[in-house]
Amino acid sequence: MNPTNKAKFRQSLIERRNHLAHQLMSMEESVLGGAQSGSSPTHMADISGDNFDQDMNIGLLEKDFRIFRQINEAIERIDDPNFGVCESCQREIGLRRLEHVPYARLCVNCQRRAESNNFMGFY
Ligand SMILES: [Zn+2]
Repeated sequence: MNPTNKAKFRQSLIERRNHLAHQLMSMEESVLGGAQSGSSPTHMADISGDNFDQDMNIGLLEKDFRIFRQINEAIERIDDPNFGVCESCQREIGLRRLEHVPYARLCVNCQRRAESNNFMGFY
């Protein structure tokens, strides 16, 4: 992967991480009924958390945490020469897929197979 693309994905990953961190904090507050002390309600506006029922909120929270971890891993991995290479078949994951899912560790084909086998619960 060339350095321009790498820089782009790094930027994209960091933005997603920040966004998700924000979202997780807000969700955690609403799930735990938090909102203690001086937490500002302004960032609550962009998620429709209020309408979700508790179970759904917790499910989303877990999913987001998983993605958050994957994003963090991807940020650590991005300088690795294997970044953007499928961990299963060792082929390039493809820029288009990485644009949608910059933290992907598998190419589309392997991802699909993994999902149908429910292999390690990716996503
Ligand atoms: Zn693959």
